[in-house]
Amino acid sequence: MKRRATRMVKIGDVPVGAGHPISVQSMTNTQTSDAKATLEQISELKAAGCEIIRVAVPDRAAVQALPEIIAEAGIPVVADIHFNHRLAIASARAGVQALRINPGNIGGREKVRQVVKACQEQGIPIRIGVNSGSLEKDLIPESSSESERISNEYSESGPTAHTETLRSESPKENQTASLAETHDKPQTASHIDRQKKHQTAPETESTSQMKSQKDPQTNQMAKALVTSAARHIEYLDLENFHNIIVSLKSSSVPETLEANRLFAKRFDYPLHIGITEAGAGRSGEIKSASGIAALLSQGLGDTVRVSLTDHPVQEVQVAYKILASLGLRRRPGNLEIISCPTCGRTEIDLERIAREVRQALRERASDSEAPPLTVAVMGCAVNGPGEAARADIGLAGGKKSGVIFRQGKVVKKVPEEELVSALLEEINKMECE
Ligand code: SF4
Repeated sequence: MKRRATRMVKIGDVPVGAGHPISVQSMTNTQTSDAKATLEQISELKAAGCEIIRVAVPDRAAVQALPEIIAEAGIPVVADIHFNHRLAIASARAGVQALRINPGNIGGREKVRQVVKACQEQGIPIRIGVNSGSLEKDLIPESSSESERISNEYSESGPTAHTETLRSESPKENQTASLAETHDKPQTASHIDRQKKHQTAPETESTSQMKSQKDPQTNQMAKALVTSAARHIEYLDLENFHNIIVSLKSSSVPETLEANRLFAKRFDYPLHIGITEAGAGRSGEIKSASGIAALLSQGLGDTVRVSLTDHPVQEVQVAYKILASLGLRRRPGNLEIISCPTCGRTEIDLERIAREVRQALRERASDSEAPPLTVAVMGCAVNGPGEAARADIGLAGGKKSGVIFRQGKVVKKVPEEELVSALLEEINKMECE
């Protein structure tokens, strides 16, 4: 699967972009001010394979807990801040490995400048997170004239109308902006060159198909998301800060796909991908998988967060399942259970057996020391071993009985009630060989 070429940004010791493995991240849902509870959750997430953890920093109490959390987390910590530049600066100074903050929302250039300075001193990146639920009011495509205006703003390859506003916030700001303009010219020029390069890049068949399928509302929201991201980037461009990761998320899969596709044509910053507010349970997992897999299959995405109304460990497990199903990553200790859908040939209670196998191997699945293992649970011995030939080991049903097979070859025949225990015994034996 060909990945999109991007800049490389490091979050602590985790490289993001430029072809590095797609990292898996999550966000704690504890009170960050409660360092003990937050660290307990981070420990569970880390055991599940989480590589970057984000914590909400809504107040000073959360900032005060950061040094202890960072010291003991064992994975890079990202501070998630809304609007408050003081909390951002304090979090950077507390030692977080990245900030998630939208520069356009923190109250003007001077505050952005202070946040950027703190990030530069600490050598940490900023992740800009654009979300359909929290778009700037003027970007929400409510009327056709508004939609048209966004289209016009989006289509400009040079500084946007917003940038002009940004550059003339006050006489003092204006003066600084002019200076920044002079010094930034080569950078800005290369930035625009880069955009042009992306804009002229030929589209793949799949992207042109997507383009023709999108509806006008999807199109408008996607453009609004990209325009918003471009505005936030512009704030950082003006401070000559390019240590940036960007996410463009919507709870709509088509909007998220289109926004990321459009963004990737204009910018080479690494993409943090996910479907926001995907929901709970199976529907949330399916929605996340549909969106994330579609993006990854187009080469888009450098770090993944699955957003579920569930325990965050579930987010990490689902993320790895998506990556493994695309052949992109398989974490050590990763257990893959493949099972057939059953059909008229099935003569055992395969659903129960598959459930018992999954439960019995649950602990092994989170053991990062354990080697990868693919286990097959198949309905019939005639087709099962052949259909699951790439599995390391498996079972296949017969008439109230079944067989255990390894690499497609039958090694044992047992009654139905002994199938699970015989399979587990064979796995143990295999791993001791
Ligand atoms: S493995 Fe056998 S029981 Fe399962 S779907 Fe295939 S043919 Fe049917």
